[in-house]
Amino acid sequence: MNAKERYLSFKNRPDGLPFATTNENGEVKVYTVEVFCRANEANVGQPPRMCRTESKFSHTGNLRVHLKAVHELRLPKLKAGAPARADIIEVERKEYKFSLKNITIQSTEYLS
Ligand SMILES: [Zn+2]
Repeated sequence: MNAKERYLSFKNRPDGLPFATTNENGEVKVYTVEVFCRANEANVGQPPRMCRTESKFSHTGNLRVHLKAVHELRLPKLKAGAPARADIIEVERKEYKFSLKNITIQSTEYLS
């Protein structure tokens, strides 16, 4: 089982994932194959608290819908002409690294 498969094998969000971050336009970054919400749902001034929705989304497109509808976050537009895969997101490869308890997922494993 490679890192991607291990990531996707979790039913609930694994411990240790970093909070979602935003790009220079204030849009939340969603990475290829991402299926767990990492949004901070704490109110301003409160300690950060990761989204209470810990269960896995069926695919990244549903996570994107959740981020927009529940957290009212803006997301980068999908690239025009991109393949019709919901999980094709423009990302900075170097930032695509999930540090789990004992695995690290590197973007280069999935991004062509
Ligand atoms: Zn959420």
